[in-house]
Amino acid sequence: MFSPTVYICALLFSIPGLLSAADFPQGRWVDLSHDFSADTLFWPTADKFAKSTVFAGETDKGYYYSAYNLETAEHGGTHVDAPVHFARGHTSVDKIPLEQLIGPGIVIRVADRVGTQETADRNYRISIADIERWEQRHGKIERGTIVLFDTGNAQYWPDAETYMGTAERGEAAVAKLNFPGLSPEAAIFLAEKRGVKAVGLDTPSIDYGASRLFRTHRELFKRNIPALENVANLSALPDKGFTLIALPMKIRGGSGGPTRVVAFLPGK
Ligand SMILES: [Zn+2]
Repeated sequence: MFSPTVYICALLFSIPGLLSAADFPQGRWVDLSHDFSADTLFWPTADKFAKSTVFAGETDKGYYYSAYNLETAEHGGTHVDAPVHFARGHTSVDKIPLEQLIGPGIVIRVADRVGTQETADRNYRISIADIERWEQRHGKIERGTIVLFDTGNAQYWPDAETYMGTAERGEAAVAKLNFPGLSPEAAIFLAEKRGVKAVGLDTPSIDYGASRLFRTHRELFKRNIPALENVANLSALPDKGFTLIALPMKIRGGSGGPTRVVAFLPGK
């Protein structure tokens, strides 16, 4: 059986002889990452992304040269949350096994439940019923799947007011956050009944905006299941039938990190 995951892993890890250019499966790559810039949205208490110029221009030797310095918090833009973010002693971002961040992906769409900016309960919590609705159409979620949720929130990026409920910064702004998230019950269901590898969504946090106890983070991370946040472009994916690759910056001991998330869709 054709397995894009095996082929892509062979490519990534450069297994000699296993994969020639002619053998590489036909398909399409979809970028599911927001770019990093001064516009990138961060948690209100985190420092924002900053890029400063070391040099950009013609050198006195007659060639062009550019280089920049970066500063960024771990939790902003498209990123991975590592289990140690909410579970003491659990996996840090550099130690998440690669195979947990590469695998078959599905998208569960709940934008119609969340509603529009005007009508919506922006703090919608994705339920087990939302997952079961997907399964009624596509079959039971297989063990080892990476489950993504399209809440429709990405359309508001990078407007902080609509995307996360407030453009204010600092501790007091946290009380004003509102956006959809995954309910703790649904998180436990995916972890224990479906054996998923990782979960992700198109909001700043896997918990809904008004959450103060971050139960979904805690339930996932004590089970060593990482989360992808601020995922972009989910509307470009089918509901199933793609391979997801989400590789965060390898920050030693980090609680998360900026991540390039991509999907491979086989086919001409
Ligand atoms: Zn995070």
